[in-house]
Amino acid sequence: MLRKTLRLFGWLGTGILILVVTAFVALSNSEALQDRLVAVGVQNNVAAGLVDDWGGDNLEVAFCGTASPMGNGPRAQQCVAVFAGDKFFIVDAGARSAARANEIGLPMGRLSGVLLTHFHSDHISALGEMHLASWVRGRPSKLDVYGGPGINQVVDGFNMAYGLDYGYRVAHHGMAVLPPAHAGLRAHAIDAPETGSVTIYEEDGLKISAFTVPHPPITPAYGYRFDYRGRSVVISGDTKKSNRLAAAAQNADVLIHEVLQPQLVKAITDALDAAEVDALSKLLTDTLDYHTTPVEAAEIANAANVDTLVFNHFAPPPANAIAARIFMRGVKDVRPQGAVMSDDGMRITLPPKTGDAPSIIEISSN
Ligand SMILES: [Zn+2]
Ligand SMILES: [Zn+2]
Repeated sequence: MLRKTLRLFGWLGTGILILVVTAFVALSNSEALQDRLVAVGVQNNVAAGLVDDWGGDNLEVAFCGTASPMGNGPRAQQCVAVFAGDKFFIVDAGARSAARANEIGLPMGRLSGVLLTHFHSDHISALGEMHLASWVRGRPSKLDVYGGPGINQVVDGFNMAYGLDYGYRVAHHGMAVLPPAHAGLRAHAIDAPETGSVTIYEEDGLKISAFTVPHPPITPAYGYRFDYRGRSVVISGDTKKSNRLAAAAQNADVLIHEVLQPQLVKAITDALDAAEVDALSKLLTDTLDYHTTPVEAAEIANAANVDTLVFNHFAPPPANAIAARIFMRGVKDVRPQGAVMSDDGMRITLPPKTGDAPSIIEISSN
């Protein structure tokens, strides 16, 4: 009996192997089969990329980049998309974030604007790609870019650097497809007060306010708060532990806070010191004084009475599950409900508040 069963499995195994080899040989040699498979795959990808189910009645967040510039890894640098009704803003555009936005399927053609928290390179370097990605998808005007004093220099610089590209693309594809009037970035200067907040945008029930955060010597450095249909999301920007941020984030549903984990930074600087890479070691050591530790972020979330605390802008980006655990060290001691680790592609949905019903916060990874 046993021998018969073994023989049957032997035949089955041989049959499957022959089928796999035959399929592989057919795929390697048949151009028609290759073309058919590619066509089906591309069709599915294009169709999936065109689905626009973002926003609607909800206030919604998508992470198009969650890393600081420290270290390497698969995460894109800082980028948070916020949807409210038909409005769609992107806060910061770090390296690789435009590619990530495309991968996640963000509807770039209806991008309402980009808000910059400050002008460190890891927050602005993908602006040119955000411009192109939204222009080729039919953005109906120039790309509005908001930021503190200095925004004109950044926007003028990008427009100058990309000016030739704008011209090439109009010449090649035609004005009907790429209207020259929609080419380029348009600066909107924001002057946030030292304390308190200023409303910088109010339309169709969406209110965006800006507030100052401490990220010395970088001034200005801002955080942003989005309020829509009774729900609210606050983005810290890059900051030291800040009571001004706690005040601006009062009673928010979601606080997205930057974090630096000092033990992990020390592991890197120790290794750099041992290898005598002194300049880089100093650079990383310098970052310790203008960011917030996870425990401090938890204290700010408590002081602000926020519902859900989400960590992002990881310094350094956790390379594995152990490093991710280290980010949570001590957090539950000060905030029993803990915090959520963001990741590229994560989506947070906040349906509108209805009467006394408990407010829902849905979190899903892409
Ligand atoms: Zn940064
Ligand atoms: Zn910064």
